[in-house]
Order: sequence, then structure tokens, then C-alpha cells
Amino acid sequence: MREIKHWLDGAAVSGTSGRQLPVWDPATGEQQAYVVAATKEETDKAVASALKSFPAWRAASLSRRAEVMFRFRELVDANRKEIASLVSKEHGKTEADAGGELARGLENIEFATGAPHLLKGGYSEQASSGVDVYSIRQPLGVVAGITPFNFPAMVPMWMFANALVCGNTFVLKPSEKDPSVSLLLADLLRQAGLPDGVFNVVQGDRVAVETLINHPDVQALSFVGSTPIAKAVYEAGTKAGKRVQALGGAKNHMVVLPDADINAAADAAVSAGYGSAGERCMAISVVVAVGSVADPLVAAISERIGRIAVGPASDPSAEMGPLITREHRDKVAGYLQNTEGEVVVDGRDAPVSSGPGFFLGASLVDKVSTDEALYKDEIFGPVLSVVRTDSYDEALKLVNDNEYGNGTAIFTRDGGAARQFQYDVVCGMVGVNVPVPVPVAYYSFGGWKSSLFGDLHMYGPEGIQFYTRSKVVTSRWPDPATSEVDLGFPKVR
Ligand code: NAD
Repeated sequence: MREIKHWLDGAAVSGTSGRQLPVWDPATGEQQAYVVAATKEETDKAVASALKSFPAWRAASLSRRAEVMFRFRELVDANRKEIASLVSKEHGKTEADAGGELARGLENIEFATGAPHLLKGGYSEQASSGVDVYSIRQPLGVVAGITPFNFPAMVPMWMFANALVCGNTFVLKPSEKDPSVSLLLADLLRQAGLPDGVFNVVQGDRVAVETLINHPDVQALSFVGSTPIAKAVYEAGTKAGKRVQALGGAKNHMVVLPDADINAAADAAVSAGYGSAGERCMAISVVVAVGSVADPLVAAISERIGRIAVGPASDPSAEMGPLITREHRDKVAGYLQNTEGEVVVDGRDAPVSSGPGFFLGASLVDKVSTDEALYKDEIFGPVLSVVRTDSYDEALKLVNDNEYGNGTAIFTRDGGAARQFQYDVVCGMVGVNVPVPVPVAYYSFGGWKSSLFGDLHMYGPEGIQFYTRSKVVTSRWPDPATSEVDLGFPKVR
């Protein structure tokens, strides 16, 4: 069986721990490969390699670093098909969906090519007599990224494109569930001219993560994953003195007002609820139907569910693939078993759900209570809940009282209502008639409440800030003739 290796010092390297973690083919339910979970010593080696290569990479000119990103962009673009099919094979999402993930990842590489502009500091001439003050941004050193299974190409790109172009060196710990694409990206970075050791990959689990958290030579940690782990990584990382941004889970509500276009709202709910089998942190998992919109909306959504083609990524007509593991599929199905709501469409009845792959058909549950687990938990599967409310205020309160605050959306024809929602809602990313409002790469991505621990959002301008620290220089070139001793506190003259 194929081993998916680590990437150290510019080459793929076999693991030594003997702790094999299976990589499944979610479409068939069979194991297709394995990773050997990294030991502390192997993770230390990756950090040592990144540390050794930091001085030279930091010293590389801005143009040179940007040039590597430009070349990397071209290589990713030229290899889109291969990357997307690798993502599909291990994750299970359709190739079109994997292509979409890659396109959003590419945006981040394109943004990073603009680093020479983004890293410009400020300059104040004559801040005092003969004194100039200026600010510069410098890289942190070795930084690490820990990524989830659901976007094995895009989320690492959110992190390493900006980190590298700012002059840092990087250690990636990808999800052990779909790790192959990390090696392909590492090889493309090498082909793009990135010096060996600047980008390393350690495969594995919490042993590698805990080593990175506690390693004195790792300056910053970017984490994306579930909320309990995000919180733990944030707490342990900051305790160890590191800069940390830890993005967690979500429960994204789509509020549909009575004046909304029912067909457009139903199309959006189905696309955002069942795309990637609901395994997106920006998936819509709750439709909040306000007033009279509920009955026609539920009917329109359930009618569309019947037309979703569920199947393996190898079938070009498939629109929705399997879930990531058997355990996860069974856990999601368990919510349907235990709900107190009205199961309008039960995905467990879909023929594909009884095959050997980890499939579960799309499900719709109406009249879900906010007290039940189906509402409270992040389901991360193809189950859309409908909660009915009588008013906008009640809908808003529902969103704002929720533990998570990643994304939300409002569907309405009323500009004033949409503007009020944007103003009132306690959430990091808001869509107005847009169900999955993932910001473009020149903004930054991040939720509020239990969806993000840390101060800076990921990628975009805040990503550049996260991966650099500022230094302010106060400079005078005095005429030796006017030099004198002055013990007073420096003041502006
Ligand atoms: P996960 O939390 O299980 O794993 C994420 C990473 O943490 C993986 O690399 C994993 O190996 C590692 N990990 C797991 N358990 C650990 C432990 N005990 N100690 C240290 N490291 C550990 O998440 P997942 O199942 O891979 O991904 C799905 C989750 O990620 C969902 O909750 C989803 O909402 C979230 N997510 C959030 C965003 C966002 O931007 N907010 C984006 C994508 C995914």
C-alpha cells in the first residue's frame, strides 16, 4: 500500500514511527494509502530545516520572493486537473468542487505576489528637527500551519502563500485524512524555485501538533479546524508565547425574509447546504424562515433535493460526493435518528447511502427546535435544518445567540432590511443574497465568537500583518559640530 510521505529539506521522506494512519477512498470505503504519523523527533527535524533556511530566505529580495510566487501560480494553474483529482480522490468532493477550491486558493497566491507593495512601511520626514521616523515589517521566522480535511489545497494556500512571501519559513501539518496534495504543492514550490527547507510538511496527528505548539523555534501558529481543537491550540500556543490565529467550527444561518424570491432562496439554500456534502465551514446548515415564507420555501427546497445527483467524483455527472469517513457519515446520520423535528427528506433512504462508500443523501428537517443537538452542534454533513420564526427580530436573536459566528446570510428584496442585518448581526462574514460569503483574497477571512480564537483573521491584509511584525526606526544623521550630551527625555523639537 502507498505511503504518503513527509517533505523535509526539499524531498519526500518516509516516516519512521510505525504508527500508520489510514487514508480512505470515501467513494468506495476502501483504504487507499496511509501516512506514518510523525514523531516528535521528525517534527523537530522539520523545524530545524525551516530554521536553517530562514536567514537566506529572509535575505532574498522582495522581487525574488514574489517571483517564486508568480512561478508557483503558473505551476498550480498548469496542474489544476491533477491537483483537483488528487483532492477528489482522498476527500470525495466532486472534481468541479475541487476545481473551485483550487481557484480560491490561487487567488491567495495572486494576492501574495503583491507582497512588495503590501510590505511597504510608512515614512515621516522631519518628525523632529533633522529626525526621520519610519516603520518596516519583518518576517517572524519559522511559522507553522495546521489544516483541516475539508479544503486540503485551499486552506494551506491561505497560510503559506503570504507567510512565505513575507520571508518566513514554513512547516505544514496537513489533515491526516487527505494529505497527498500537500506533497504535490511542496514539489510545485520546489519547481517554482523555493529553496529547500523553506517549506516542509510533517504528516501526522496531535504528536506533531503538540511538538509544533511547544517548539521554541516556532514563532507563530495558524490553525484551521474544529472549535475544541482550535481553542486548545490557541490556549497552549499563546501560553507558549506564540502568535496564534485559530479558526474553528461554524453553524451558519441563512435568514429568509417573507419578501425574498423563493426560487432564488431555495437554489441558494440547496447549493450552500449540500455543496461538498455540507463539509464546508461556510456551509449553510440552518435556514431561518421568517413568517409566511416557511411553507413555500420548504416545498421548494425539498423539490430541488430530489434532483441532486449523488455519486463518486469519478462520475462527471455527480454533484455531491460522500462524507470523509464512515464514522463521520454514521454520526451525521445519527442526528436524523434523534431529531425532534419533522424529517421532510431523509438522506438515509437514498440508495447510495447503503453502499460501501461513505455516502449519505441530502436531508431536510423542518421545525427544528433550538434546544436539540441537531440545532446546537456543527453537523458538517448534508443536513439542512429549518427553524421557523415569526419576525426579523426573532431571527436576528437566533443568529446572535448562537455559539458560532463564522458566516451568515440574509435573503430579501428590501435593501433597508439587509443593511440593518449587516449592522446588527454578530458574525464575521455576512452575505446579502449571497449564501457562502467567503471573502475574496484581498479581504481577510475570519469568524467571530467560537469560530475564531485570536486577533487577526486569515489571509489578505490581516494575513500579511499576522506573518510580520513591525519595527519603527527613529533616525538622525547629526552634524558632529552640533552634537551634545542631553540627559532629558527625548522630545520633539
Ligand atoms: P479537526 O479539528 O479534527 O482537525 C484539524 C487539524 O487538527 C488536523 O490537522 C488534525 O490532525 C489536527 N488535530 C485533530 N485533533 C487534534 C488534537 N487533539 N490535538 C492537536 N491537533 C489535532 O478538524 P477537521 O475534522 O479536519 O475539519 C473540520 C472542521 O474544521 C470543522 O469544524 C470546520 O468547521 C472547521 N473548519 C473551519 C474553517 C474556518 O475557516 N473557520 C475552515 C475549514 C474548516
